Amino acid sequence: MEFVYGPRDVPEERWSTTKQWAKAVITNGDGGSDGQVQIGSRWWKQKWGAHTGGTPDNEYNEYGIGICVVGNFMDHNPTPEQLKSARELVAYLMETYKIPMRNLIGHKDAPNALTECCGRMFYRYLHGRFKSQLRTQLAAVH
Ligand SMILES: [Zn+2]
Repeated sequence: MEFVYGPRDVPEERWSTTKQWAKAVITNGDGGSDGQVQIGSRWWKQKWGAHTGGTPDNEYNEYGIGICVVGNFMDHNPTPEQLKSARELVAYLMETYKIPMRNLIGHKDAPNALTECCGRMFYRYLHGRFKSQLRTQLAAVH
């Protein structure tokens, strides 16, 4: 998994509005190598997220970790490299911060979210094979 620190190494203008709100971005080859994990300024400042407005008490922005996987996944899947990085990053975060599997959600699962994000294809995968692969990966560490 390749990491870069967003605003330090990546020109600010390459980050869309949405990406600036997420704490980590996983690129698809456009604006970074395929599967590259870019850490945004909100991560190292430990700043709250701004991606999931409208949740009670702003809970999902205050305590959630927003990960943006670049692409439109309504009719195609993320690249294999993006999925590999996503699994590694999520496994690391779940392990480090003791995040239970039930708290791994798509953007549209957040209360009052008016979005199709993360797209039909990725959403199905997220709650299916992604989670089962993660379980295997997490079990292997113990
Ligand atoms: Zn989203």
